Amino acid sequence: MTETKTRMNRRNFLSRGLPGIAGTIALAHLESMGTACKRVEEGKKHKMVYRTLGKTGIKLPIVSMGTMDATSEALTRTALDAGISHIATAQYYARGRVEEFIGKIIKNYKREKIILATGVIPQPIDYRSGVFSKDTDIAKFEKDFEGSLKRLDVDYVDFFYLAFAAKKESVMFEPLMKSMEKMKKSGKTRFLGVSSHSFVSEAVRAAADSGFYDVVMLAYNFQIKDIEERKQAVAYAAKKGMGIVAMKTITGESWMVHDKQVAASNPKAALKWVLQNDNIHTAVPGFTTFDQLETNLSVMEDLTLTPEEKQYLELARINHKDSLFCQGCGTCLKQCPSAPDIPTLMRCYMYAYGYRDLAAAVRNIESVKDDPIACADCSSCVVKCPMGFDIKGKVLDIIRLRNFPPEFIA
Ligand code: SF4
Ligand code: SF4
Repeated sequence: MTETKTRMNRRNFLSRGLPGIAGTIALAHLESMGTACKRVEEGKKHKMVYRTLGKTGIKLPIVSMGTMDATSEALTRTALDAGISHIATAQYYARGRVEEFIGKIIKNYKREKIILATGVIPQPIDYRSGVFSKDTDIAKFEKDFEGSLKRLDVDYVDFFYLAFAAKKESVMFEPLMKSMEKMKKSGKTRFLGVSSHSFVSEAVRAAADSGFYDVVMLAYNFQIKDIEERKQAVAYAAKKGMGIVAMKTITGESWMVHDKQVAASNPKAALKWVLQNDNIHTAVPGFTTFDQLETNLSVMEDLTLTPEEKQYLELARINHKDSLFCQGCGTCLKQCPSAPDIPTLMRCYMYAYGYRDLAAAVRNIESVKDDPIACADCSSCVVKCPMGFDIKGKVLDIIRLRNFPPEFIA
C-alpha cells in the first residue's frame, strides 16, 4: 500500500465523520503533520522555569514533551536544543513507532541529559471498571517493557509508568507491582509511576499512599469537572513527595482540529492555567509544528493569565460541547443500562479526530470490538453528558473503526 493511498483512506474515514469535525482545515492539518511550517527563531534563548519532581530530586523545566503525535525529527531536536529535557512516550503510541523515532533522535544526545519516560498498558484491560484482573498477562507486560527499551535503544528509562491505572485496586495490583519492582531492581528504570485517565483522584491518592511509586502522570486541565477534587488529590500527593506530571493539558485536542474551535482555541491559556498550580511539577503537551512548540515554550516567560486568556478559559468552560475531551466521569454508563463502553469510544473519537492517530483509535477500540452496540436501535439518546456530547452520533461514527482494515492504518 502506498503512503498516498493510505493517507487517502485515512482521509476518507475522517472526512465522512460528523459534520464540522473533519473540515478542510483539519485535513490540511493532517497533511502537514511532521512538516511543521515555521521554525522557532534561530538562536532565540527561551526562559526556562524549573521545578523538582518530588522525592526523585530531578529538576525539570515545567514544560516537557508529549510525543503521541511526534513525527518530525527537526522539531523534536529543536525542542531538545531549546532546553526541554523530559520526553514522555509510551509503548502503545503508534504501536511502538514513536519509541523507535525517539530512540533514533536521542542517540545524538548524552543519555544523562535526557529524562526519558515510557509506559505500558497491562493486557487485557477493562477500561469500563478500571480494575486489572487475575487474567492480567504479567509476562506480556514485562515483554512489552523490554520492547520499549529496545525500541528506545537505551539500557534504562528514568520513569516507567503503569499506564491506565484507575482505581486503588489497579494501582495496588500486587502482581504488577512485583513485576515493576523487578524492573527497578534490575536498573532498567530509575523510578516507578502510574499514569491515570479515569478515577484519577483515587489513583493519585492511592499512588501517594503506597510508598511504592515515585511519580504520577494524570489528566489535568481547566475543563475537568471535578477539578477541585483533583487539585486536592494532587496537593496530597505532592505533600507526600510524589513527582506530579500533567497530561491532556490542552483538553486532549490537537491544535487545529475542528473548524469552530480553530479561532477560539487557546492552548497557551490552557497550559498556563495548569502550570499556575505549583504542585504540578511539569506538563507534557504535544506539538506538531514549530509554532506550537514556540507557544509551549513561551508559557515560561510569564505564567500570568492575560485578561483575554482569562476570558477564553471562562467561555471555553461554558461552550465545551465542541470539545473532544471526555471527562471519564461515567455518567453515561449510569444513565443508560444498554450503553456500550462510551468513555473508551469517546477516547477513540478524540484519537481519531483530535490527534489524527487512527492507529491509537483502532488499538483502543479493540477492547469494545465484540460488545453489542445498542445505540443504532435507539430513536433518541437519553444520556445527558456533562460535556454536551452527541453520544449516539459519536458512537455510531467511531465504531466504523471496528471494521477498518488494519492495512489502512499508517
Ligand atoms: S458522560 Fe460524557 S464526559 Fe462523562 S464519561 Fe460519558 S461521554 Fe465522557
Ligand atoms: S444511543 Fe441509546 S444505547 Fe446508546 S447511549 Fe444513548 S440511550 Fe444508550
